[in-house]
Amino acid sequence: MTGTSDASAASIQAGSNIASILKQSPLNPLETRILVMHALQMTRIQLITQNERCVDAEQAQRLSALFRRRQLGEPVAYLVGHREFYGLQLEVTPDVLIPRPETELLVDLALQHLPVDGGSALSVLDLGTGSGAIAIALAHSRPELEVTALDVSAAALTVAQRNAARHLGQRTPALELLQSNWYEALGERPFDVIVSNPPYIVAGDWHLSEGDLRFEPLHALTDHADGLSALRLIVNDAGRYLKDGGWLLMEHGYDQAAAVRQLLRTLSFDQVQSWQDLAQIERVSGGRWRAPD
Ligand code: GLN
Repeated sequence: MTGTSDASAASIQAGSNIASILKQSPLNPLETRILVMHALQMTRIQLITQNERCVDAEQAQRLSALFRRRQLGEPVAYLVGHREFYGLQLEVTPDVLIPRPETELLVDLALQHLPVDGGSALSVLDLGTGSGAIAIALAHSRPELEVTALDVSAAALTVAQRNAARHLGQRTPALELLQSNWYEALGERPFDVIVSNPPYIVAGDWHLSEGDLRFEPLHALTDHADGLSALRLIVNDAGRYLKDGGWLLMEHGYDQAAAVRQLLRTLSFDQVQSWQDLAQIERVSGGRWRAPD
């Protein structure tokens, strides 16, 4: 099929009803429903109960444009401007990586590795926060946490700020957002847990030219090198920012667990281990910092 006929397949006529639009759509049923709900400001229930409703010219045009953009590969999350993560609806724009379900593992692990007896305030650092997904999920789950999240991208921080305002409101201790290239702007302060989902895809990996990744910020996906350079930097400096007994937990690629464990073992980390995601892939590795005497 040529690009032109693809595009015409996505053309919706004014006066069509919702039932026929759902049937005609060139996209898969789930994506079609998400885009129709977005374009017509309808809920899932309304889509079913009002499927005789007809679209006007402007709505038809808006839907056709969305279908066409999706056919050309734009991620659904960018088209509708949001994605759910850890039960929270987060705003996403092309300035931030789209939160992935497997990253929820990192949130679970961070929560499990925070000391239970909170004698003093517990603190968490999220390196390369993007939309703020991990940091906001943590602060939302455990309101007493002091969460600091940083990112090198000012545009990403603007998105994270809006997500924080929406889900955390004005409550204190609030999430602290900081523009920083990894630890650079941080000042020396110790955290109970450091988490990160850094860019870990190897430069030139074919995944970067496939699917949603083509539209996501490249610097959030790849280190433009061997895939381990951000992970290496995070591990090497973590000791300066962890309390004695604090945990470093990092998401990484499907084939990087052994290499990341090795990085941790060359430094003063114990209990070094990896955890599997729902697809049984070792997806997060970490260790406990033991301050050298
Ligand atoms: N998990 C993403 C992917 O493979 C990559 C995210 C990252 O590099 N941190 O699609």
